[in-house]
Amino acid sequence: PNVIAILNPKGGSGKTTLAIHLAYALKEHGRTLLVDADIQGSARDWSAAGASGLPVIGLDRPTLDRELQAIGGDYQWIVIDGASKVEKMVASGVKAADMILIPVQPSALDLWACAPLVDVIQARQQATDGRPAAAFVVVRAKKNTSIAREMRRAVEGYGLPLLTHTIYDRTLYARAITEGTTVQAMDAASEAANEIRLLTNRVLEAFD
Ligand code: ADP
Ligand code: MG
Repeated sequence: PNVIAILNPKGGSGKTTLAIHLAYALKEHGRTLLVDADIQGSARDWSAAGASGLPVIGLDRPTLDRELQAIGGDYQWIVIDGASKVEKMVASGVKAADMILIPVQPSALDLWACAPLVDVIQARQQATDGRPAAAFVVVRAKKNTSIAREMRRAVEGYGLPLLTHTIYDRTLYARAITEGTTVQAMDAASEAANEIRLLTNRVLEAFD
């Protein structure tokens, strides 16, 4: 399977929202599993709240990478919704991943808080000839602001790219999650669904 981990040790950074929407989109491109690595169980709560058709399992111990090897074979895509705060869980997610997306809200403070995660990722990349690939994704961007350039400058020191695809702050995301569904399922023609499609295409290209 191709394993994509959504990681950011900061709670409330947008991991679960991004993981659910990406996994739901990847489902159109092969069997997809969403792995809830957070003991809070938000992705499992989302799954129970609706009928998305997306399989969700909880693997919230630091043996995540080994457990995934045992069960992952049935899937083409696995998306890990990362834990907040628990360092061992983050390290295990880094080990399990082929690609890491780090959702970050458009603020330097949020970016700086990712420094320890970036260190773990880069240590892993050095030990394994560059795997996993990793990039920041700006989420909850405000309309009509041009934070992009500032973020791009702030991110330069980290040695990880910032995807040009941005996820905006839209109430549709929160509504969809509350109802156990996704923005794509609620309104396939919405701007939210469109930005998820663009991000998903970017991920698919990376695995081509
Ligand atoms: P994490 O999993 O990192 O703790 P969540 O995905 O639970 O983060 O998001 C934290 C909060 O931000 C939630 O209230 C969620 O509804 C909201 N949120 C996340 N992404 C967006 C977005 N793109 N637009 C609007 N609200 C968002
Ligand atoms: Mg979460």
